[in-house]
Amino acid sequence: MIGLLTARELLQRGRDVLVLDAGSGEGSASSGNAGIIAPGHFPIANPRQRSRAMKLLLDPESPLYIPPRFNIPMIRWLLGFRKACLPRNYGHAVEVLNRMSNVSRDGWQELMDIDATPEMLAALHPAGSIEVFCEQETGDAASRDADTLRRDGFETELIDGDELRRRDPAYSDEVLGALVHPGHIITQPDQLLRAIEDDIVDRGAVVRHGCTVQRMLADRHACHGVIVEDDRMIEGGTIVIAAGIWSDGIARDHGIRVPMQPAKGYHVMLDVDEPPTIACVCRESMVAVNSMPGGVRLAGTLELSGINNRMVRRRLDLLQQGASRCIRGIEDAPVLEQWTGMRPCTADGLPVIGPMPEMAGTWIATGHGMMGITLGPVTATLLAQMIHDEQTVMDTVPMSADRFN
Ligand SMILES: Cc1cc2nc3c(=O)[nH]c(=O)nc-3n(C[C@H](O)[C@H](O)[C@H](O)COP(=O)(O)OP(=O)(O)OC[C@H]3O[C@@H](n4cnc5c(N)ncnc54)[C@H](O)[C@@H]3O)c2cc1C
Repeated sequence: MIGLLTARELLQRGRDVLVLDAGSGEGSASSGNAGIIAPGHFPIANPRQRSRAMKLLLDPESPLYIPPRFNIPMIRWLLGFRKACLPRNYGHAVEVLNRMSNVSRDGWQELMDIDATPEMLAALHPAGSIEVFCEQETGDAASRDADTLRRDGFETELIDGDELRRRDPAYSDEVLGALVHPGHIITQPDQLLRAIEDDIVDRGAVVRHGCTVQRMLADRHACHGVIVEDDRMIEGGTIVIAAGIWSDGIARDHGIRVPMQPAKGYHVMLDVDEPPTIACVCRESMVAVNSMPGGVRLAGTLELSGINNRMVRRRLDLLQQGASRCIRGIEDAPVLEQWTGMRPCTADGLPVIGPMPEMAGTWIATGHGMMGITLGPVTATLLAQMIHDEQTVMDTVPMSADRFN
């Protein structure tokens, strides 16, 4: 998503663009996520997680799970994560992400109003979403979050369970209430990706799937291009690395640190008789629920178990367990499909957007964690502005790759 939207923004500024993608376009985090464009989503590193760190390490049933697997980068990342949970750092991350969210929300809106293709519009539904809660303590936290969101310019409304069931009878009697986000946009992510790719090809981009970048040919003076498999060179005067979690390895091969951990998530598609019409996140289990033409998607869980696509049965089951507390007809619904993907997560919860240190003409855009679809447009805008040496819509210092080096 980040690469395609950046390509689109650069094409609109008259650049020639070649997109090299190691995969088929279908295996990335961008294709299988929950599909909620959620400006104002809060970072995972928050003051409550700091005290829960040990519990999370030991509890495979927790929404955020860290199996015992210690290596130096992981320990460093966890220390950074704990630091990010300090109230002052958390407040800073929320402020930056909310500013980015505001710009991105306008970006998605502008795209829908002005130049989206019919296929893109068919994958984007400005229907809003909700966060539901079944426990009073979670409801109190939701209410505090609502105050922060209003302060930062996002429209939200707190409703009780009866009002929610009046709006959508699929929600269960256990639900005490919901935080309503009318500004959220619901997507079908794989359909949206395909539509954006078709659009950039129509605008003149060349997209090559199954083409893995091995390394970049750039130093502090000039950028010449990249080396792909078979040691072939592809020339280019500007490179943007937007390779999700794999960006870390690409940067490291050049001696540059962009430390991230892959936060593995899962989705299951269910055949539900009467699917919910309003997409939601269940606050206690952190499972997202989005009804799509191919079934109801339950997406979530966050597992720090390294780069791999192993599916853990117990983690998959947690999705159905978590969502069935809030929505009727989920518990026994037949499973149509299972998927796993990795969110690229920095320890401080902020993305990495900007020039690669010590490498002329080389840029990076990654580290969007749980918000890569939401923050796609602002990322593309900031990069295009920086590449063209223009004034940026917001301060980019908090996102710079320099902060790790
Ligand atoms: C379960 C789950 C639910 C989520 N829900 C949401 C949500 O509701 N809303 C939201 O905003 N975000 C959500 N996210 C997060 C979002 O999916 C990610 O932040 C986002 O997809 C990251 O996009 P990306 O383009 O950076 O990386 P990716 O989508 O991972 O893409 C990276 C691309 O780089 C390519 N690549 C890798 N290495 C190389 C190489 N060497 N050479 C060439 N190409 C390479 C890969 O083939 C891939 O196409 C969710 C994530 C998960 C896992």
